[in-house]
Amino acid sequence: MQRTGELRSALGQLENAHARLRESSQRDGLTGLHNRSHFRERLLEILERGEGPVSLLMIDLDHFKSINDRHGHLVGDDCLRWAARTIGQALRPHEALLARFGGEEFVAALPGMDTADAADVAQSLRRALHAHPCASGPHIVPISASIGVHRLPRGAGIDGDEAIDHALQGADQALYAAKAGGRDCVRVAGALV
Ligand code: GH3
Ligand code: MG
Ligand code: MG
Repeated sequence: MQRTGELRSALGQLENAHARLRESSQRDGLTGLHNRSHFRERLLEILERGEGPVSLLMIDLDHFKSINDRHGHLVGDDCLRWAARTIGQALRPHEALLARFGGEEFVAALPGMDTADAADVAQSLRRALHAHPCASGPHIVPISASIGVHRLPRGAGIDGDEAIDHALQGADQALYAAKAGGRDCVRVAGALV
């Protein structure tokens, strides 16, 4: 009887540890946001449900290297965490899927949104980042981001993985245009049908 209880408790602990491990493997250690591979899995699920349009935002912090150069990497890390929180808050009303794409780059998927709506969300997100500097110890660091917007293709027979690759590429090109356009701005790629 006592052995059964001990075994059950050990099994419970193992299940907890497994759940914690799985959760942490889906997250980025610095910001606590989802990581890129988890983002992709979740986005595939959304696409498979096939409920309306989905738009992508590719968000890249501006001149981040000079923030590190000027204030050091620890302040840079604080700025990344701050940006992740600010982006998360700005996207909260929209049931967005948000992840750290890598480095100082974030990606968000907006289910149910065409590029026009997604561009509005991107603008409010850009303004939220611009509105308040990041405070890290004695440092007050202004942050801005450039954002590329692209819509995922939809329709019967579309390969989800290919659609995601294509949309990421499109959002990246739009982001590049935002950088070329002076940064701290939003650019929308031509919609794919
Ligand atoms: P741009 O406006 O063109 O995007 O310029 P940028 O300086 O932001 O872009 P660049 O790609 O030249 O530099 C990105 C910088 O982001 C360089 C890298 O050290 C920094 N970075 C990436 N990941 C981290 C991180 O985890 N912590 C810190 N502190 N810095 C990071
Ligand atoms: Mg950058
Ligand atoms: Mg970058």
